Amino acid sequence: MRKLSLACFVALFVCVFANPQDVPKGTNPLTVIHAGTLIDGTSDAARKNQLIFVRGNKIEKVTAAGEAIPPGAQVIDLSNATVLPGLIDSHTHIFLWGEDPNKGGYDANILKAGIALRAARATYACRRALEQGFTTIRDLETEGAGYGDVGIKQAIEEGTIPGPRIFASTRGISSTGGYNLEGYAPELVMPKGVQIIDGPVEARKAAREQLDHGADWIKVYMTHRSWVGKNGELVSQPTLTVEELKAIVDEAHGWGKKVACHAYSGIGLQRALDGGCDSIEHGLTLTDAIIAQMIKQGTWYCPTIAPYYGDWGEENTPGGRRDRKRASDHEISVQKAAKAGVKTAFGTDIGGIPWTEPMGVEFGYMVKFGYTPMATIQSATSRAAEMLDMKGEIGVLTAGAYADIVAVSGDPLKDINELKKVKFVMHDGAVFKNEVSAK
Ligand SMILES: [Zn+2]
Repeated sequence: MRKLSLACFVALFVCVFANPQDVPKGTNPLTVIHAGTLIDGTSDAARKNQLIFVRGNKIEKVTAAGEAIPPGAQVIDLSNATVLPGLIDSHTHIFLWGEDPNKGGYDANILKAGIALRAARATYACRRALEQGFTTIRDLETEGAGYGDVGIKQAIEEGTIPGPRIFASTRGISSTGGYNLEGYAPELVMPKGVQIIDGPVEARKAAREQLDHGADWIKVYMTHRSWVGKNGELVSQPTLTVEELKAIVDEAHGWGKKVACHAYSGIGLQRALDGGCDSIEHGLTLTDAIIAQMIKQGTWYCPTIAPYYGDWGEENTPGGRRDRKRASDHEISVQKAAKAGVKTAFGTDIGGIPWTEPMGVEFGYMVKFGYTPMATIQSATSRAAEMLDMKGEIGVLTAGAYADIVAVSGDPLKDINELKKVKFVMHDGAVFKNEVSAK
C-alpha cells in the first residue's frame, strides 16, 4: 500500500468519522451549544443563558452559562435564539403526495406512480421534515407502498439520505369495504392503500406479517367513510370489530409494540377504545364518555386539526356539510381534551397535505383550541417521546438524551408560530442546518 499524504489522511479521517456515532469511544469531539433561552421539553418554564454539552450523538450535560468550556470544544452560538428539543410529529405519511384532485388525487399515487418515484418523493418528505425541525416522526402507514417506510428508515440510519428518526407502521390494516381504492367496476380487483383483513384470524396474521417485516407500530382504520346524519351528527362507517382489533392489539403488545387507531366518531371510535388501542388518531367527535374512557385507559390522543380546514366541498352539498361538520366537531373535541388533560401527542397528517406546506401550522390550531403554548410544545417533544416509549431519550434536553436539538429566533411561548420557522437543526449530534444570526 502506498503511503498516504498527511492531507489525504486528514481527509480520510474527516470522511470516515463524518457520522458522530462512528467515532471510536473516548475520542468523541465535544460541541457546546450556548442557548439564549432553553425550553427543555419537560419543565414548566424556560431557562435563560444555558450551555448544552454534546458529545457524539448524546447530550452529556446541560448547565448554566459560566461553566468552563474545555479547550478544543466547538462552540455553537445560539445566544440569540430559543433552543428546544428536536420536534416529534406523531402522524405523518412520507408516501403520500398531497392528494391534489387536479393531479389525480389519492388514486393516482397508487395507479400511476411507480415504487421508485414514490421512494424518491418519500426521500424528499424526510428531508422536509428534518429541515423544519422534526427529528422524529411516527409514520402512520405507506398507503399502498408496502414496506417502503422500513426501507427509507434503513437508508436514513445508514446515512445514505438525510431524515428524521422513523417509527414505521408499514401497510396499515382495515376491513373489506374499509379503504381506497374504491368506486371502480366491481369486476376489477383494485389494489388497496392498506392490508385488508376480515375476521380475528386474518387480523392477527396481518399484524404478525407487519411486525415480522419491521413495523414499529401497527396502524388500524377503525372508521372509513363519514357523512352528516339525519340529526345533524357526524356519522362514521365502522370497519373492524372489537374482536378483530383485540387480536391485533394482543399480538402487537406481545411484541412490545403499540397500535394506532384512525377513528372519527361513533361506533368505530367506541370499538377502538373497547379493543384496547394505544392512540386515537384524529378523534373528531369525542363525547364526555369517550374522554373519560381514554383517561381511564391511558389512551393517547393525536388530533390532526389543520387538514380538516382545507379543501372543503361546496356549502350545502353532502360533502361540503360533512367537511364543515368534521372541522367544527374536531374543534370542540380538542377543546374538551385540552381541558380534561387527555394525554396528547402532536400530529400533522402531513402527506395528506402536500409536503411543500409548513408542518408547523398545526401548532397554531392547538393553541387556538385550548392547549397552552408549553403544553403544545410538550405534545411535540416529551409527551410524544413517552408515547413512543423513548422517555428521556428524545423530546428532552437533558443528560443522556440523544442530541436532537432545534432553535427558533423568537419566543414560541409568546408566538407559537415561531415553530413554523425553525432556524437550527441538530439531529443525532450532527448539525443539519444553522441559519441563526449571531448577536
Ligand atoms: Zn393520516
